[in-house]
Amino acid sequence: MTAHQIPSTPPFLLDPDKQLFINGSWRQALSGELIETRNPATGLVLARLAKGTGADVDLAVKAARAAFEGPWSQFTPHQRHSLLIKVHDVIDRHFEELAMLDTLDMGAPLSRTLKAKDRVLQTIMFCATQSMNCLGQTIPNSLPGNFTTMTVKAPVGVVGGIIPWNGPLIGQWWVIGGALASGCTVVLKPAEDASLSVLRTAELLLDAGVPPGVVNVVTGLGAEAGAALAEHPDVDRIAFTGSTVTGRAVIRASAVNMKRLQLELGGKSPDIVFADADLDRAVPGAAMGVFNNSGQICYAGTRLFVQRQIQDEFVERLVAYGKTVKVGDPLDPSVQMGPLVSERQLHRVLGYIDQGSAEGATLAGGGKRLEGALSQGYYVEPTVFDHVNNDMTIAREEIFGPVISVIPFDTADEALRLANDTDYGLGGAVWTTNVKTMNQMMHGIKAGAVWVNCYGAIDLAVGFGGHKHSGYGWKGGTQHIDGFLYQKAICINYD
Ligand code: NAD
Repeated sequence: MTAHQIPSTPPFLLDPDKQLFINGSWRQALSGELIETRNPATGLVLARLAKGTGADVDLAVKAARAAFEGPWSQFTPHQRHSLLIKVHDVIDRHFEELAMLDTLDMGAPLSRTLKAKDRVLQTIMFCATQSMNCLGQTIPNSLPGNFTTMTVKAPVGVVGGIIPWNGPLIGQWWVIGGALASGCTVVLKPAEDASLSVLRTAELLLDAGVPPGVVNVVTGLGAEAGAALAEHPDVDRIAFTGSTVTGRAVIRASAVNMKRLQLELGGKSPDIVFADADLDRAVPGAAMGVFNNSGQICYAGTRLFVQRQIQDEFVERLVAYGKTVKVGDPLDPSVQMGPLVSERQLHRVLGYIDQGSAEGATLAGGGKRLEGALSQGYYVEPTVFDHVNNDMTIAREEIFGPVISVIPFDTADEALRLANDTDYGLGGAVWTTNVKTMNQMMHGIKAGAVWVNCYGAIDLAVGFGGHKHSGYGWKGGTQHIDGFLYQKAICINYD
């Protein structure tokens, strides 16, 4: 990798030899080709990554398989637990560097990436406790004779982790943590727009004592390295986060060897505000439910259903709130919203904004690319559309940008019908002071997570997952470890 000079450039970025991480060491892609990644705040080239292809994926899978069958399989639950505690300490010590890498790579403000520290460390500790919890059951049987019957759980093997660009700092840990806890090994394919923190983490894991081959990283394009991982016949499970379209391709590719899948895909989540809500909380809650991470969050509450009698007041306050969100250089600690991840994403989001206006929605606030000192970066203003209807493109397709669509409703039944009129089912929220309305909404919204008088709160111990086209498989909670294990029934005959 090579990097343009940035005041606080992490040394890791300046090392041209750190390309693919396979079997505990760095190597170049077999093709020798590189891909450029840009700093979205400046548009300048940030690093050159190895363009891994199927042959590199194959090497990484072989290393992961050898580690799985080799010394790693001898680690007891207690040893994996102790290792995760060491990993926790190493990541803790290096977190500022990792946060800086994500900020430079994908544009999330430092205020956000640094704040992710607690969450990442909690995830590692959570997985450490799970390593002692790969439990089977002894089950009374009705077989004729003298039998003991039980179930045991065993690691599935090699797990492919396909990571998106919108939060690799955290996203990678759902896969690495589960693998280290269960005894699986992993090959990670980070997104081409945000690979750096994943590469650096793999190196740090080796320092922490994770044996070579247990965690491997192959960078490259989704259609090449990603597709090769998804269809590799010696990968036992894929944990994928990304778009629904790619999720479908991963499902098809998994058929080759019946891979297990965990898919967290797109969303178009409803956020429903009733007239009786505490608007002082609902306005910032709904706004940041979309503007956080510049709207690049899978469960962002982008369809904002507002009861008609408060529509005008709510939109006015929402637009005013949007103007208070500080957008700018993500390295400035006071900035709340950075650029979009890439030029491609910038044009995609601006295209949706044009389409919203063309289809008759009212642009109430924002809507433009930022100019002046920020014109080289991929910045879009916090944007609010009013008078949207649920059939418009901006209400149906995932924009993945800071764009809210306000859709009015009159009754609770109508709100629920519109909220569920979507292919997606990732998240949803209701703001109300009426317990009957709350009850109707929390049971009625068809999604993997429902928030009441808050937005986007996710507890590791509870976890979350998708419904409908938003995917399947649970992340977090006591079920998290189960995704990395298969179950075996054992029957012992004493006669
Ligand atoms: P994507 O689904 O194409 O990419 C996600 C990951 O999948 C990346 O690592 C990519 O390299 C990999 N990938 C791409 N094609 C693949 C294939 N054929 N086989 C295996 N892996 C493949 O998403 P994107 O193009 O980066 O973003 C497009 C849209 O996806 C966004 O605008 C947003 O709507 C959605 N998205 C959702 C999430 C989420 O958290 N649910 C995250 C990122 C993107």
